[in-house]
Amino acid sequence: MKELSIEALGHILNAEIAHGNSGHLSVTGISTDSRTVKAGDCFFAIAGERFDGHDHVVDAFGRGAACAVVGRDVRAAGPVLKVEDTIVALGDLAREHRRAGGYKVVAITGSVGKTTTRQIVHHVLSGHFKAHQAQKNFNNTIGLPLTLLDAEPDDEVIVAELGANQLGEIAYLTRIAQPDVAVVTNVHPAHLAGFGDIEAIVREKTSIAQGLAEDGVFVVNGDIDILTAACRRLGRPFRTVGKSSEVDYRAEDVVYHGLRSRFRIRGTPVELPLPGPGNVDNALAAWVVCETLGLTIEQFACRIRTLPGVAMRAEPLQIGTLTVLNDCYNANPASMKNALAILAGLRPKAEGGAKRRTVFVCGHMAELGAQSEALHAELGRNIAHAGVDLLIGVGEAAKTTVAAAREASKHDLQTVCFDDTAALCDNLGRLVREYDILLVKGSRAARLESVVQELMKDY
Ligand code: ATP
Ligand code: MG
Repeated sequence: MKELSIEALGHILNAEIAHGNSGHLSVTGISTDSRTVKAGDCFFAIAGERFDGHDHVVDAFGRGAACAVVGRDVRAAGPVLKVEDTIVALGDLAREHRRAGGYKVVAITGSVGKTTTRQIVHHVLSGHFKAHQAQKNFNNTIGLPLTLLDAEPDDEVIVAELGANQLGEIAYLTRIAQPDVAVVTNVHPAHLAGFGDIEAIVREKTSIAQGLAEDGVFVVNGDIDILTAACRRLGRPFRTVGKSSEVDYRAEDVVYHGLRSRFRIRGTPVELPLPGPGNVDNALAAWVVCETLGLTIEQFACRIRTLPGVAMRAEPLQIGTLTVLNDCYNANPASMKNALAILAGLRPKAEGGAKRRTVFVCGHMAELGAQSEALHAELGRNIAHAGVDLLIGVGEAAKTTVAAAREASKHDLQTVCFDDTAALCDNLGRLVREYDILLVKGSRAARLESVVQELMKDY
């Protein structure tokens, strides 16, 4: 981040500076984790569910923090700025920092595909600009400010991800990010527990426009009527991407080729090294962002070919003779449907003359509220019709999915259920055969990556 005096920080946060001097007169970085504080950092003490940063202010100074921002009185050996709410203070600082920054900000929200779209945009833009992107899945009231504050003074573009699991979060985040380009990848029933219904999700995602520059570009999925209707009501221009004939940007001649896709944009062939229909939409949205920032379609096509897989998001892995789609980062009805489409596309492949089986290791979908049971059953019916050979359910909610799949299946769908990943890992050897194609997918809390790790050990 751009260096900032402790006095200027106090001014931005409207906070008195208490306690002694640390030897630093200015702040050169921001940290919310005392274990990774660097000399010159300002340490924001944030009270989380498991840890309270206020208990670690002494450690932060021990590692060379220039000052600390706290929400309650703490014992400390350096300058401390006391504020009402340290998360709000972090947001205030990021907003000021962004206002003074000479870079463009791309902000991406949506029910699914935020991280993937962000990584496509960042990868392509990195070939032409000094571009910075969010780390990991940083997209909330802590992660988004950190993304902005982490940028180097000479960065030209910041690609940020805006996530929400409660009403009002996107409006709050977009006013901090003040984007030049805003994207809504799609709206689907995800995080329903926090929002209640799809209308609320649409309102939440489209509120990204509230922070968008007046002459900013607003990009949304044009195949979802409820989303485009909401955008029209906002009374500002927007561009649409998708598959229907009415959209402004469409991928033509799409061919899903195993773990890649090929299509044309404005006549130019594009080879996308990611599988499935959702990623074509993500790539189209990424193209509109890149076009807005001045790239040609040829430059976009040339750069996207070298995109690495996105870790744990339908990430293709070859483990011995097994083809594994590692999709353990998250799960909701929309991304489950997308993953099933990818699996169906891989199915006809034969190896050494033998038909390859498709195996779905299926965890639960979290945060679906009152509709959880019905949506888990619907997933089971979708699996039954997707031509999966073996369905392995993991956890309580997956039992509903497995029961519904068994009932709806008209072919020889084999099913088995385990209480947890440990029990499944003990049985993997007898369930998985050479040349199988496996999809491993569930919500974060299901931690199905341990199954992928077990496969890596054994195959
Ligand atoms: P989170 O809310 O966890 O941050 P996200 O919006 O960042 O999620 P990704 O991490 O990119 O989304 O992808 C999550 C899951 O959704 C993955 O399984 C991925 O394959 C799938 N996915 C990505 N893009 C789409 C899309 N456009 N349509 C449907 N599924 C998608
Ligand atoms: Mg994400």
